[in-house]
Amino acid sequence: MTVTTRFAPSPTGTLHVGNVRTALHNWLWAKKHGGRFILRIDDTDVERSREEYVTQIRSDLDWLGLAWDEEARQSARFDLYEKHFEALKAEGRIYACYETPEELELRRKILLGRGLPPVYERPAEGAAIPEGRIPHWRFKLDHAAPIEWDDLVRGHQKFDPKLLSDPVIRRADGSWLYMLPSAIDDVDLGITHVVRGEDHVTNTATQIQMFAALGAVPPLFAHEALLTGSEGKLSKRLGSLGVDAFKEQGIEPLALLALLARLGTSDPVEPVADMAPLIAGIDFSRFGRAPARFDEAELAQLNARILHQTDYDAVAERLPTGMGQAAWNAIRPNLTRVDDAADWWAVVEGPIHADIATDDRAYLAQAARLAETLDWAADPWHALTAALKDETGRKGKALFLPLRIALTGREHGPDMASLLPIIGRERAIARLLA
Ligand code: GLU
Repeated sequence: MTVTTRFAPSPTGTLHVGNVRTALHNWLWAKKHGGRFILRIDDTDVERSREEYVTQIRSDLDWLGLAWDEEARQSARFDLYEKHFEALKAEGRIYACYETPEELELRRKILLGRGLPPVYERPAEGAAIPEGRIPHWRFKLDHAAPIEWDDLVRGHQKFDPKLLSDPVIRRADGSWLYMLPSAIDDVDLGITHVVRGEDHVTNTATQIQMFAALGAVPPLFAHEALLTGSEGKLSKRLGSLGVDAFKEQGIEPLALLALLARLGTSDPVEPVADMAPLIAGIDFSRFGRAPARFDEAELAQLNARILHQTDYDAVAERLPTGMGQAAWNAIRPNLTRVDDAADWWAVVEGPIHADIATDDRAYLAQAARLAETLDWAADPWHALTAALKDETGRKGKALFLPLRIALTGREHGPDMASLLPIIGRERAIARLLA
């Protein structure tokens, strides 16, 4: 059996970091097993679904590099749902309901007031149909036996169906709620593993009975603990933090994925060079039950660490024209985002403005004279500073800092031994004399 996973966003908004994590884990699991990863657009809610969000979801997944093997759209599959709906209705597993939301709310309050679980009460057999009402539809849970499954994250799960309400699966206007179409699709698309947030655990209990009613073996389930903000609470920010924000912050997709792959597991977050270790490492048994903390500062740090080891070829297209491999290697240890390479490249190319202390002018002129005689193909920075040290007796900051300021216009920056050959002989001498 081919391992098949799916990521099933509803296109009623853009993806937030929690969705990205779910997409990633599904993708990783499929890759690890040489399986298939399906993008399922859950757009049964015609009112709230928007085409622009579908487009955005696709482009976010593209940016992340999470390619899908197949795309399914629920709005194109209504015939299939209709067919199963009719069959399940004929079997008595789907039944019509006529309560208004107000009536349901009142019953709920009464039950709660009596200290009873607020479970939906099925209408009595042959109860009169209130006049003029159009039915909505529920799936009838089988109360005979507990619902059980071995969750790949949460371990053994057991629900008493008598404590669950028969879920509404279709509204009076004929539109679908999420539950049944999702189960039908999971069967039809051959989904072997459903990986999603633990907010779906109760849905799973009822969907397990739907799978059985459809004559199918349910997939395996992995319900992951949700993400929280760094402050430890479910944060509003996380709900709106999406790919656009990460792009704006200069976060590399690999950094985000490397963090989200390991967050909430017992494995360390590491600055990986590609997806291979993340694919090899995905293992649901290593995910904890406690909420995983998503820390933007940790992400920024990981992003920098990944950049510091990113090869030129991987970023060449995004660098300023003319900036070659040696320049990238010299500059990358100072970057927290790729865009900043342009600032350092501007320093290399000049013109620069340097605030030179009057006291240092003679020293820099001396440096310029030495620079003329150096072998620029070797290691000009060490040769220059060694010679200056001998000639002037300067050392430490007094030796290095005036040179750095004259050559770059800045007090801090990339290692001068790497940078100076890129600045080159002509520009260096001119700057030392400026
Ligand atoms: N569209 C559902 C959601 O966004 C999918 C849940 C699932 O993975 O089954 O929550």
